[in-house]
Amino acid sequence: MTMQSPVVAIRQVEAPLPPAFAAAVTQELFDKLRLEPVPVMFQHEYGNGDTWDGYCPHRTNTERGEVVMAKRLVETTLIKPKASHIQSVYLHEVAHRLTPDAWHNAAFSAMTLVLYLRAGVTDGAELWQLVSLYDAQDEEDVGTAIAWAWKTANELAPTELSAERCGEVILERYTRWRTWLDEKPQREEARQAAIKAREDATKANEQLVADLRESRYWWAAGAFLFGALAAIALRFL
Ligand SMILES: [Zn+2]
Repeated sequence: MTMQSPVVAIRQVEAPLPPAFAAAVTQELFDKLRLEPVPVMFQHEYGNGDTWDGYCPHRTNTERGEVVMAKRLVETTLIKPKASHIQSVYLHEVAHRLTPDAWHNAAFSAMTLVLYLRAGVTDGAELWQLVSLYDAQDEEDVGTAIAWAWKTANELAPTELSAERCGEVILERYTRWRTWLDEKPQREEARQAAIKAREDATKANEQLVADLRESRYWWAAGAFLFGALAAIALRFL
Protein backbone atom coordinates (compact mmCIF):
# COMPACT_ATOMS: atom_id res chain seq x y z
CA MET A 1 0.00 0.00 0.00
CA THR A 2 1.43 3.40 -0.97
CA MET A 3 1.59 6.10 1.65
CA GLN A 4 -0.55 9.16 1.14
CA SER A 5 1.69 12.14 0.44
CA PRO A 6 2.07 14.49 3.41
CA VAL A 7 3.17 17.27 1.05
CA VAL A 8 0.67 20.00 0.29
CA ALA A 9 0.71 22.76 -2.34
CA ILE A 10 -1.11 26.04 -2.77
CA ARG A 11 -3.06 26.58 -5.94
CA GLN A 12 -4.47 29.96 -6.84
CA VAL A 13 -8.14 30.58 -7.46
CA GLU A 14 -9.76 33.81 -8.57
CA ALA A 15 -11.06 35.81 -5.63
CA PRO A 16 -13.56 38.65 -5.40
CA LEU A 17 -12.08 42.13 -5.76
CA PRO A 18 -11.59 43.95 -2.46
CA PRO A 19 -13.84 47.05 -2.84
CA ALA A 20 -11.02 49.50 -2.06
CA PHE A 21 -8.83 47.94 -4.78
CA ALA A 22 -11.73 47.85 -7.27
CA ALA A 23 -12.34 51.56 -6.65
CA ALA A 24 -8.66 52.49 -7.09
CA VAL A 25 -7.55 50.18 -9.92
CA THR A 26 -10.22 50.37 -12.61
CA GLN A 27 -10.44 49.43 -16.29
CA GLU A 28 -10.26 53.17 -17.01
CA LEU A 29 -6.88 53.25 -15.25
CA PHE A 30 -5.58 50.28 -17.28
CA ASP A 31 -6.73 52.07 -20.47
CA LYS A 32 -4.84 55.22 -19.45
CA LEU A 33 -1.77 53.14 -18.61
CA ARG A 34 -2.02 51.13 -21.87
CA LEU A 35 -1.34 48.11 -19.67
CA GLU A 36 -2.74 44.58 -19.55
CA PRO A 37 -3.94 43.95 -15.96
CA VAL A 38 -1.28 42.24 -13.85
CA PRO A 39 -2.76 39.78 -11.31
CA VAL A 40 -2.33 40.69 -7.67
CA MET A 41 -2.37 38.55 -4.56
CA PHE A 42 -3.14 40.03 -1.13
CA GLN A 43 -1.17 38.58 1.74
CA HIS A 44 -1.05 39.14 5.46
CA GLU A 45 2.26 40.58 6.50
CA TYR A 46 4.60 38.16 8.15
CA GLY A 47 8.08 38.33 9.57
CA ASN A 48 9.77 39.98 12.48
CA GLY A 49 7.90 43.22 12.68
CA ASP A 50 9.09 44.64 9.34
CA THR A 51 6.23 46.21 7.50
CA TRP A 52 5.97 46.11 3.74
CA ASP A 53 3.39 47.40 1.27
CA GLY A 54 4.05 44.93 -1.52
CA TYR A 55 6.63 42.93 -3.42
CA CYS A 56 7.16 41.43 -6.83
CA PRO A 57 8.33 37.79 -6.74
CA HIS A 58 10.52 36.58 -9.58
CA ARG A 59 8.25 35.46 -12.43
CA THR A 60 9.45 31.85 -12.17
CA ASN A 61 8.14 31.78 -8.58
CA THR A 62 4.62 32.81 -9.58
CA GLU A 63 1.68 31.02 -11.14
CA ARG A 64 0.62 33.79 -13.50
CA GLY A 65 3.09 36.63 -13.06
CA GLU A 66 1.20 38.03 -10.08
CA VAL A 67 2.50 40.72 -7.75
CA VAL A 68 1.81 40.79 -4.02
CA MET A 69 0.30 43.54 -1.89
CA ALA A 70 -0.23 43.76 1.86
CA LYS A 71 -3.83 42.99 2.79
CA ARG A 72 -4.00 45.91 5.20
CA LEU A 73 -3.80 48.35 2.24
CA VAL A 74 -7.30 47.40 1.12
CA GLU A 75 -8.86 46.75 4.51
CA THR A 76 -10.65 49.44 6.44
CA THR A 77 -9.10 49.47 9.87
CA LEU A 78 -8.46 52.69 11.72
CA ILE A 79 -7.89 54.51 8.46
CA LYS A 80 -9.80 54.26 5.22
CA PRO A 81 -7.68 52.85 2.37
CA LYS A 82 -6.46 55.62 0.09
CA ALA A 83 -6.85 55.12 -3.68
CA SER A 84 -3.59 56.97 -4.45
CA HIS A 85 -1.68 54.72 -2.01
CA ILE A 86 -3.20 51.55 -3.48
CA GLN A 87 -2.43 52.72 -7.03
CA SER A 88 1.12 53.74 -6.20
CA VAL A 89 1.95 50.41 -4.49
CA TYR A 90 0.29 48.32 -7.22
CA LEU A 91 2.03 50.27 -10.01
CA HIS A 92 5.38 50.12 -8.16
CA GLU A 93 5.13 46.31 -8.15
CA VAL A 94 3.87 46.25 -11.77
CA ALA A 95 6.91 48.36 -12.75
CA HIS A 96 9.10 45.64 -11.20
CA ARG A 97 7.25 43.02 -13.28
CA LEU A 98 7.83 45.06 -16.49
CA THR A 99 11.57 45.61 -15.81
CA PRO A 100 12.70 42.17 -14.59
CA ASP A 101 15.94 42.11 -12.57
CA ALA A 102 16.23 45.92 -12.65
CA TRP A 103 15.64 46.24 -8.88
CA HIS A 104 15.57 49.88 -7.77
CA ASN A 105 17.69 51.42 -10.51
CA ALA A 106 17.20 54.15 -13.12
CA ALA A 107 15.39 51.78 -15.52
CA PHE A 108 12.90 50.81 -12.83
CA SER A 109 12.47 54.50 -11.85
CA ALA A 110 11.72 55.41 -15.49
CA MET A 111 9.14 52.58 -15.71
CA THR A 112 7.44 53.70 -12.48
CA LEU A 113 7.36 57.27 -13.76
CA VAL A 114 5.80 56.25 -17.09
CA LEU A 115 2.99 54.51 -15.18
CA TYR A 116 2.55 57.30 -12.62
CA LEU A 117 2.57 60.02 -15.31
CA ARG A 118 -0.02 58.12 -17.35
CA ALA A 119 -2.20 57.51 -14.27
CA GLY A 120 -2.73 61.27 -13.89
CA VAL A 121 -4.65 62.67 -10.92
CA THR A 122 -5.86 60.56 -7.96
CA ASP A 123 -7.09 61.94 -4.63
CA GLY A 124 -6.62 65.46 -6.02
CA ALA A 125 -2.93 65.17 -6.87
CA GLU A 126 -0.78 63.90 -9.75
CA LEU A 127 0.36 60.38 -8.87
CA TRP A 128 3.96 61.13 -9.95
CA GLN A 129 4.25 63.29 -6.85
CA LEU A 130 4.50 60.05 -4.86
CA VAL A 131 7.73 59.08 -6.62
CA SER A 132 10.69 59.01 -4.24
CA LEU A 133 14.46 58.52 -4.30
CA TYR A 134 13.78 55.02 -2.92
CA ASP A 135 13.05 53.93 -6.51
CA ALA A 136 16.66 54.60 -7.62
CA GLN A 137 18.45 53.61 -4.40
CA ASP A 138 20.57 50.90 -6.08
CA GLU A 139 22.33 53.44 -8.31
CA GLU A 140 25.69 54.86 -7.21
CA ASP A 141 24.75 58.30 -8.48
CA VAL A 142 21.06 58.68 -7.60
CA GLY A 143 20.87 62.26 -8.94
CA THR A 144 22.09 61.32 -12.42
CA ALA A 145 19.85 58.22 -12.37
CA ILE A 146 16.73 60.24 -11.51
CA ALA A 147 17.59 62.82 -14.21
CA TRP A 148 17.89 60.03 -16.81
CA ALA A 149 14.67 58.40 -15.59
CA TRP A 150 12.71 61.67 -15.81
CA LYS A 151 13.97 62.42 -19.31
CA THR A 152 13.18 58.89 -20.54
CA ALA A 153 9.75 58.74 -18.86
CA ASN A 154 8.69 62.18 -20.09
CA GLU A 155 9.50 61.05 -23.60
CA LEU A 156 7.73 57.67 -23.41
CA ALA A 157 4.66 58.47 -21.26
CA PRO A 158 2.77 60.49 -23.94
CA THR A 159 3.42 57.91 -26.71
CA GLU A 160 0.94 55.25 -27.81
CA LEU A 161 3.37 52.47 -26.83
CA SER A 162 1.95 49.87 -24.46
CA ALA A 163 3.34 49.89 -20.94
CA GLU A 164 4.89 46.48 -21.59
CA ARG A 165 6.70 47.83 -24.70
CA CYS A 166 7.84 50.88 -22.73
CA GLY A 167 9.49 48.44 -20.30
CA GLU A 168 11.43 46.81 -23.15
CA VAL A 169 12.47 50.18 -24.62
CA ILE A 170 13.59 51.43 -21.20
CA LEU A 171 15.71 48.31 -20.59
CA GLU A 172 17.35 48.62 -24.06
CA ARG A 173 18.13 52.30 -23.48
CA TYR A 174 19.34 51.67 -19.95
CA THR A 175 21.88 49.08 -21.18
CA ARG A 176 23.21 51.61 -23.75
CA TRP A 177 23.30 54.41 -21.15
CA ARG A 178 25.17 52.25 -18.63
CA THR A 179 27.76 51.29 -21.28
CA TRP A 180 28.18 54.99 -22.15
CA LEU A 181 28.61 55.79 -18.44
CA ASP A 182 31.08 52.93 -17.90
CA GLU A 183 33.21 54.20 -20.81
CA LYS A 184 33.39 57.69 -19.30
CA PRO A 185 36.93 57.25 -17.80
CA GLN A 186 38.32 56.16 -21.20
CA ARG A 187 36.60 59.11 -22.91
CA GLU A 188 38.08 61.50 -20.34
CA GLU A 189 41.54 59.96 -20.81
CA ALA A 190 41.27 60.41 -24.62
CA ARG A 191 40.10 64.02 -24.14
CA GLN A 192 43.04 64.82 -21.85
CA ALA A 193 45.47 63.17 -24.33
CA ALA A 194 44.03 65.32 -27.17
CA ILE A 195 44.43 68.51 -25.07
CA LYS A 196 48.04 67.56 -24.23
CA ALA A 197 48.83 66.80 -27.91
CA ARG A 198 47.37 70.20 -28.91
CA GLU A 199 49.41 71.99 -26.24
CA ASP A 200 52.60 70.17 -27.31
CA ALA A 201 51.98 71.09 -30.97
CA THR A 202 51.42 74.76 -30.02
CA LYS A 203 54.63 74.80 -27.95
CA ALA A 204 56.64 73.22 -30.81
CA ASN A 205 55.23 75.82 -33.19
CA GLU A 206 56.17 78.70 -30.89
CA GLN A 207 59.69 77.32 -30.56
CA LEU A 208 60.02 77.08 -34.34
CA VAL A 209 58.87 80.70 -34.77
CA ALA A 210 61.33 81.84 -32.08
CA ASP A 211 64.19 79.93 -33.77
CA LEU A 212 63.32 81.42 -37.16
CA ARG A 213 63.15 84.91 -35.67
CA GLU A 214 66.62 84.49 -34.17
CA SER A 215 68.14 83.12 -37.34
CA ARG A 216 66.60 86.03 -39.30
CA TYR A 217 68.83 88.46 -37.35
CA TRP A 218 71.88 86.32 -38.03
CA TRP A 219 71.07 86.25 -41.73
CA ALA A 220 70.50 90.03 -41.72
CA ALA A 221 73.80 90.60 -39.91
CA GLY A 222 75.57 88.22 -42.30
CA ALA A 223 74.11 89.99 -45.31
CA PHE A 224 75.16 93.40 -43.94
CA LEU A 225 78.72 92.22 -43.32
CA PHE A 226 78.92 90.66 -46.77
CA GLY A 227 77.65 93.90 -48.33
CA ALA A 228 80.19 95.97 -46.39
CA LEU A 229 83.06 93.70 -47.35
CA ALA A 230 81.89 93.76 -50.96
CA ALA A 231 81.77 97.57 -50.90
CA ILE A 232 85.32 97.75 -49.48
CA ALA A 233 86.55 95.21 -51.98
CA LEU A 234 85.00 97.19 -54.84
CA ARG A 235 86.99 100.27 -53.83
CA PHE A 236 90.23 98.48 -54.45
CA LEU A 237 89.24 97.22 -57.88
ZN1 LIG B 1 10.35 47.99 -5.12
